[in-house]
Amino acid sequence: MKYLDRLKKIVTGFLPGQDKSAVKNEAAFASSVSGLPNVVVLATGGTIAGRQIDGGARYQAGELSVEALLGAVPAVRGMANITSEQVASIGSQDMDETLWFELARRVNELLARKDVDGVIITHGTDTLEETAWFLDLVVSSDKPVVLVGAMRPASAVGADGPANLFDAVVVATSPDSAARGVLVAMNGNVFEARDVTKVSTTAVQAFAAPNFGPLGQLHDGRVFYWRSSGRAAQRKASFALAGLESLPLVGIVYGHADAPLLPVTALVDAQYRGIVYAGVGNGNIHSKVLDALAAAARQGVVVVRSSRVAAGSTMRDVELDDTRHGFVAAGTLNPQKARVLLQLALTRTQNAGEIQQLFDYS
Ligand code: GLU
Repeated sequence: MKYLDRLKKIVTGFLPGQDKSAVKNEAAFASSVSGLPNVVVLATGGTIAGRQIDGGARYQAGELSVEALLGAVPAVRGMANITSEQVASIGSQDMDETLWFELARRVNELLARKDVDGVIITHGTDTLEETAWFLDLVVSSDKPVVLVGAMRPASAVGADGPANLFDAVVVATSPDSAARGVLVAMNGNVFEARDVTKVSTTAVQAFAAPNFGPLGQLHDGRVFYWRSSGRAAQRKASFALAGLESLPLVGIVYGHADAPLLPVTALVDAQYRGIVYAGVGNGNIHSKVLDALAAAARQGVVVVRSSRVAAGSTMRDVELDDTRHGFVAAGTLNPQKARVLLQLALTRTQNAGEIQQLFDYS
């Protein structure tokens, strides 16, 4: 047998799904062990459920069922009563607001139940940070909600999914995880939704919190929190989805040298209600584009300045006169997070001053 074939056979022997009896997909915690916390895993797909094609770098995301993923970490059976629901099977580049609404409503419904102690969401890593932040803004419970993904498909040598999923169960079942907002467990770290972002397209250490660092770390089946989120206590931005069917249109325009007007005018013409500008440096804007954005703001489009720079705060009224132009400064929210908050903010108000408050206290 060729080396590669042999390797594939060995790896396939450890593929999730071999121990499907490990966790049953029951609607209720029927055969639960009393004293153990009850956790629901909502699966959406991603690399954590990915299967390699031809044993190489190519793979198909979202191929394996949630039962198969849980079957790869039988140890979690002793830590929690776990039920699971396959909400979607997508690569998270296909995440959309319909699925966000479905997830948010299901999470709120589950956490309102007395017999549910926490929720884990398995998710592709590409847009995991946006889903985490969206849920952070709309979930109304202090019980833990933990997003988890993987950088290597489940069938790869050294797949990181099982360890990350194990850690997610540790986080979701720890009393220390309560009231910390939506959390992300990746590669031995636990992050808050607001600051976490994907910083590598390929490395297993793919996530970081560039402004404030992780909340804590995982080791040997325990989570150690080193700090609390300073934001949680002063948070004013939280939103109810009741009565909402969709979110207002908000686009992101990426700043660069010699930036053209076209993306801004296209969004205004398409009647977008908000534009996040991923500016250079401290959210700075090429003077030509600045005029177009100022005109858009005068027409009632809410313009939020964020930055394409990975860390630091986009500060109000520094090189640009936000007050005169009617702009909002995103602070430490990156453009994709600023977009999510602006979409939700626009469900409440179109007033740039009020939206600035929501950004300042999110
Ligand atoms: N693009 C896929 C996704 O975000 C795979 C990436 C991953 O999960 O790491 O779902």
